[in-house]
Amino acid sequence: MSNDATKLIERARQGRLVILTGAGISAESGIPTFRGAEGYWTVGAREYHPQEMATLSAFRSMPGEVWRWYLYRLGVCRAAAPNPGHALIVDIEHALGDRFTLITQNVDGLHLRAGNTPSRMCEVHGNIEYRRCAKRCRGDQLLRMPIDLPAIDREQPLPTGIMERLQCDCGSPTRPHVLWFDEYYEEELYRSSTAESAAADCDVIVFIGTSGSTSLPMRAASLAVQSGAALIDINLDDNPFANFARGLDDGAIMRGTASSQLRILADRLLE
Ligand SMILES: [Zn+2]
Repeated sequence: MSNDATKLIERARQGRLVILTGAGISAESGIPTFRGAEGYWTVGAREYHPQEMATLSAFRSMPGEVWRWYLYRLGVCRAAAPNPGHALIVDIEHALGDRFTLITQNVDGLHLRAGNTPSRMCEVHGNIEYRRCAKRCRGDQLLRMPIDLPAIDREQPLPTGIMERLQCDCGSPTRPHVLWFDEYYEEELYRSSTAESAAADCDVIVFIGTSGSTSLPMRAASLAVQSGAALIDINLDDNPFANFARGLDDGAIMRGTASSQLRILADRLLE
């Protein structure tokens, strides 16, 4: 059955709230998912799918091309700005303080730029504004991407000198701080266990704009529901979390843009 989401969200007034976001919240900032047609990338005469480019094996065989793709994407993210949905999540965090955790699958860094607190947030797929030594010579230390990178043209080769600038002090290349399709979640890099613990310990979990195509969001949903939490799904379309919500006594589905539906929840939660 489907409930009134505004009634369920009231449990977060005194309790713990987890919000888990996916590409849907960044769509209103104009950021494409990079899993669909926008993610295709041409190298020479060949077209690569995102599932091929976003891999450790691609980075090992053609690091310059993988960096060209990520630098292009970084330019798209830097040109975008947080939208009202991101701002509402900051308002909710300010109201709940340590009773709030944000889990995001997005690597665009827009939640941080909007003002969410790093210690209350888990960027479980990384953040495109950071890189790290490919040989891990610095352990888990992250390096910020240079501010003054040239714009990357989809049709042009990587400008000269870029790969040298992206080297670690130890002489190895650095790599994007992003979880790739052929890699596993690691707490030290992505706070994935922290994210699961927050889900297991919350009173309400809200899924926003995610299709659940990776394992962590679905596990978070299971952990939350097993411990008695209410589940709210905000999405434009049907998805696995809506199906999950339909089967729950304490599940609700909201259809619409992330910002419009968050406005409704925030009005009730913060009134
Ligand atoms: Zn190094």
